[in-house]
Amino acid sequence: MPQTIIIGGGAAGFFSAIQLAANHPKEDITILERGKSVLEKVRISGGGRCNVTHGCWDPRELSKFYPRGEKELLGPFNQFACGDTMGWFGDRGVELKIEDDGRVFPVSDSSQSIIDCLWNTAKAQGVKVLTKTRVSEIIAPSTSSTAPASAPEKWTVKAGDQTFTADRLVVTSGSNPAVWKLLESLGHTLVPPVPSLFAFDTKDTRLRDLSGISMPWAQLNIAGEKLKAEGPLLITHRGLSGPAILRLSAWGARRLEPRKYNFELVVNWLAMRPVDVEEQLEDLKQTEAIRQIAARAYLDLPIRLWKSLVQAAGIPGDQQWSQLSKRQRAALVEQLTNARFHITGKSTNKDEFTTAGGVDLREIDFKSFRSKLYPSLFLAGEVLDIDAITGGFNFQAAWTGGWLIGNAEG
Ligand SMILES: Cc1cc2nc3c(=O)[nH]c(=O)nc-3n(C[C@H](O)[C@H](O)[C@H](O)COP(=O)(O)OP(=O)(O)OC[C@H]3O[C@@H](n4cnc5c(N)ncnc54)[C@H](O)[C@@H]3O)c2cc1C
Repeated sequence: MPQTIIIGGGAAGFFSAIQLAANHPKEDITILERGKSVLEKVRISGGGRCNVTHGCWDPRELSKFYPRGEKELLGPFNQFACGDTMGWFGDRGVELKIEDDGRVFPVSDSSQSIIDCLWNTAKAQGVKVLTKTRVSEIIAPSTSSTAPASAPEKWTVKAGDQTFTADRLVVTSGSNPAVWKLLESLGHTLVPPVPSLFAFDTKDTRLRDLSGISMPWAQLNIAGEKLKAEGPLLITHRGLSGPAILRLSAWGARRLEPRKYNFELVVNWLAMRPVDVEEQLEDLKQTEAIRQIAARAYLDLPIRLWKSLVQAAGIPGDQQWSQLSKRQRAALVEQLTNARFHITGKSTNKDEFTTAGGVDLREIDFKSFRSKLYPSLFLAGEVLDIDAITGGFNFQAAWTGGWLIGNAEG
C-alpha cells in the first residue's frame, strides 16, 4: 500500500491529508505532529473565532493581499480560492458568515467548529494522526537526482526512536526552524525568516493617555521608504496598531527588520489632502469664530486626539478660532495630515501574526506545490516564503496549497 507521511498537523497538513485521502482511498496517510494536540494555531486564531478565509472572489484581487507569494498564488487561486473554502466547509456542515470588513468566520464564532470539521473529516477518511511525534531527520529517496546511490527507495522520516517510510512526503510544519534546517540539508534554499504583522511602538507624548482611540481611515507612510498603507488606525498603550499598521508591517517586514524597527512613521489622521484640511480650518475660523479651538472636537476627530494635536501645533488651549494665525493653521494642518512619529520597536499583534520567509518559492512548482528538487516532496502553508496581511488570507494560502497537493498527480 503506498504511504504518505505529512509532517505537521496544522491547517495545511490537515487539508493536504483530507484531499489526498479523498483521491487515494487505498493509501496509508499519516500526519506526524510534534505537539500534544493538532490544529493548535487554528484553535487560537482570530481571537478563538478562526478567521477562516476572506470574502474575496477574484483570484487576482486575492493574490494582492500577499506581500510574499502574490505572483505564485495567482494560478493556485484560480483552482481553489475563498469561495471554494466556504463551499468546502459549508458542504461539511460548518456554517460560515462574512463580516462587514470581509473576514469570514464560523457562525458559531468558535474555532472549535473548524477543528472538529477537519478532525472528523480526516478520521472518517482513514487519515492516521500521531501526536507527540517530533520529526528530527528526513532522508531523501534514491529517486531524487541529488541522492547518493546508497539511498533507500522511499523517504525515511525519523521521530525519536520511530522510523517511518513514505512514497510521498508532505511538509506542512509551519515556521518551524528545525524543519527548515532539515529542508536546507535536502538542498532547498531558505529565505531568512522575519516577523510580519506587528504593531509599532512609540513613546511620543502626543499619544499619551489616548490608548483605545481609533480613526476609521488613516493614511500612513514610512519616511525614506516607498512603504505606504491606509485603513483603520488604533492608538494603543504602546503606540499604534490596527489594520493600517498591520498592513504596513506586512509589506515592510523585510525592510524594517534590518532597521531594528527604528524609523519615522508619517500619519495622515484624516486621509485628506492638506489643502482640503486647510480649507476646512479656514471655514471653521469663520463659522466658529468666538469658540475655543480646543473646547470641542472638529473634523470628526475624537476630542482627546483633537486636543492633543491642537496642543502639538502650539495653539493655546483657550485660543478662539478667530485668532488662528496662518502659522498656527499650517502647524495644525501638519499635525493632522503629516504627523511624524519616531517608532522605536514592535509589539506582537495577539490576534494574528505570521513569519515572512521560508522555502524559496522558485523551488516550488505551484501547479501542485511540488518541490522542483524532489518529485515526491510537497510543501504548503507557512513553511513556504508566503504570507499575507490579516483577514483570513494566511489560512487561505494553507487551504489552497493543501488542496492542490491532494489533487497532484502521482
Ligand atoms: C495568534 C494567531 C492567530 C492567527 N489567526 C489567523 C486567522 O484568524 N486567520 C488566518 O488566516 N491566519 C491566522 N493566523 C496565521 C495562521 O495561523 C497560519 O498562517 C497557519 O496556521 C499556517 O498553517 P500551517 O499549516 O502552514 O502551519 P501551522 O498551523 O503552524 O502548523 C504546523 C504544524 O507543524 C507542527 N510541527 C512543526 N515542526 C514539527 C516537527 N518537527 N515534527 C512534527 N510536527 C511539527 C507544529 O506543531 C504545527 O502543529 C494566526 C496566527 C497566529 C499566531
